[in-house]
This record gives sequence, structure tokens and C-alpha cells, in this order.
Amino acid sequence: MTPLTRRLATLALVAAAATLAAEEMKWPIHDRTRPQPRVVAPGTFSTAEQPGKPPADAVVLFDGKDLSKWESDKSGPAAWKVENGYFEVVKGTGGIHSKEGFGDVQLHVEWMAPKPPVGKDQDRGNSGIFLMSQYEVQVLDSYESETYPDGQASAIYGQYPPLVNVNRPPGEWQIYDIVFFGPRFDKDGKVLRPARFTVFLNGVLTQHNVELVGPTSHKVRDPYKPHADKLPIGLQDHDHPVRFRNIWLRPIVERPE
Ligand code: MG
Repeated sequence: MTPLTRRLATLALVAAAATLAAEEMKWPIHDRTRPQPRVVAPGTFSTAEQPGKPPADAVVLFDGKDLSKWESDKSGPAAWKVENGYFEVVKGTGGIHSKEGFGDVQLHVEWMAPKPPVGKDQDRGNSGIFLMSQYEVQVLDSYESETYPDGQASAIYGQYPPLVNVNRPPGEWQIYDIVFFGPRFDKDGKVLRPARFTVFLNGVLTQHNVELVGPTSHKVRDPYKPHADKLPIGLQDHDHPVRFRNIWLRPIVERPE
């Protein structure tokens, strides 16, 4: 984005937020006729030993049994290994992505870097979670292992280092809770509003509503290219046997009423 389009996008965002606030405040204070929030049965939290239960309205992408909700980036079924309630990257088989496309989501993912650790820097427990197939929250063994800050675990790859390094040692389950808003484009493909991430790693805030300058990439910061409102979620094959379990999401509806 040029500085001007960036400024315009920010203004559009501010205007949209003001409209939303005005819309909400049309309700008198404590109005009992205002629609009640939908009831959702909460899930349970995960422990080191076992994954928690997703909330009742979650779309479950992996429940420990199979990869039926996923397919290979090379086409065909996901070729990664499923065992003991988790699945593991199989080197060289390529990334996998959800069959279904998603836009704005609350996403829960648990992952584990290989133990004992092998390699260093980016070549150590590397994978990644790609929202809309192009906005990556990095997965990497970043426990007592250094790399460039915008490439460590919980970084928005190549753009934002995490606020803190709150990684657990390799061989332990780590938990991402991600809030993602996809970018908005106008009918001519201009960015009205950039993509945004908020991320918690192991319950600690690591990204707070950061605005992406475009899709994440290695060594380049590409500008936005207009794309669909819903796209698959991808997981990266970076040649390392990283494990995943308990993947679920909730599409975000901004003020459903
Ligand atoms: Mg990666």
C-alpha cells in the first residue's frame, strides 16, 4: 500500500467503526428489548495430557481422529500421519489445507515441536498456520532457540515479532488462540481495510490487533492482491515432524443482530 491508500484505508476503517458504534448506541441504555446474545455452551481448556473440548458452536477441523476436513496442497487427501489423537507433518508430502474456506475467525490450534530438537534457527520445528492461505502465524521451535524476531513462533511472518516469547520446550503442547479478520477490498480491488491478527500463545497475548501490510512471505513484503472473502486455512510442510491437535474455529460475525 502507498502511504495515501494506507491513510484512506485507515480513514475508511475509522468511519466503519464510527458507523458501527452509532448503530449500537441507538439502543437506550439497559434496554431489555435489545436482542439477547445467543447461548453457547463453552468447552473445556486443554491440559498437557489431553486436549480440551471445543465450544458447542465450533467448526471442528481436527478432533483427534482423521484428516477428513483437510486435503493436500498437491491435490488429493492430506498425506500427513494421524496417531494417538494428533497428526504430524510428513516431510515432502506438501502442505495441507482445510477443504472449506473461511474468512473472519476465532481459531484454536495446538502444536508441538519435535523432541529432541533437531537443527537451529528457521530449520527447527518449523511449520505455519496460513489464514486465508496467505497470512501466516509462524510455528517454530523458539524455546531457547534464536532466529530473526519476525520469524519466531507467534510472529506474523516477516511483519510482526510477537510481543513476548512465551514458548514451551519442544515435546510439549503449545496453544494458539487466534483472532483473524480478513482484509476488505472494494469492487476495484482497492484495500478498504487490511487483515488483522490478535494472537495468544499459551494464554499470553503475543499479537494485539496488528494490521498486515499484505500477505506474509519470505524475504519480500508483497502488496495485497484482491481475493475471495473465504479461503482455506493452510498448514505448512517445512520438512519437520511438527504435530497438531485440537483444531477448531468459530466464524466471527460482527454484531450478529
Ligand atoms: Mg513457517
